[in-house]
Amino acid sequence: MDFKNYIADVKDFPEEGIVFRDISPLMQDGEAYAAAIQKIVEFAKDKGVDKVVGPEARGFMVGCPVAVELKCGFAMARKKGKLPRETVEVAYGLEYGEAVLQLHQDAVRPGEKVLVCDDLLATGGTTLATVELIEKLGGEVVGLAFLIELLDLKGRDKISEYDIFNLMEY
Ligand code: IMP
Repeated sequence: MDFKNYIADVKDFPEEGIVFRDISPLMQDGEAYAAAIQKIVEFAKDKGVDKVVGPEARGFMVGCPVAVELKCGFAMARKKGKLPRETVEVAYGLEYGEAVLQLHQDAVRPGEKVLVCDDLLATGGTTLATVELIEKLGGEVVGLAFLIELLDLKGRDKISEYDIFNLMEY
């Protein structure tokens, strides 16, 4: 399956000069969505994953079905102020601005093997912040999986010591 047929390239969104890679057509197609999730499951299945962590919001759409397939837990990394209980947090730079990301204190237990899932790797800021949160809680990051990697932004350089999977590259 050519997964790129299910990605909409949106010029000048959210700002002029940016080509936004919109994954929603892929998710709207049952077969393509399931096939994409299966590819990530294949990447992760021998890693002994205890938990999947995904940053909001599209990280949930990728991470949740992967977690269900792997029969492990899922934890949400969310922007500051969204999680109701005690949290750990990390400030990070975005492709378009700055933010603080949080995980619940009990989201990951010490020693758990964790897979991080998101829709897209751009500058790597979001992923690095997610990794830092997991490691603060004593988790071991065993893989990072994305539907899309934007090669020009060199996000991979920030997280080069980890095992990275992408389904599509631009
Ligand atoms: P990074 O932190 O710069 O790597 O940006 C990655 C985050 O921004 C991911 O959580 C993506 O959901 C979002 N993002 C950045 N660029 C795009 C895009 O072109 N399409 C979809 N999401 C994007």
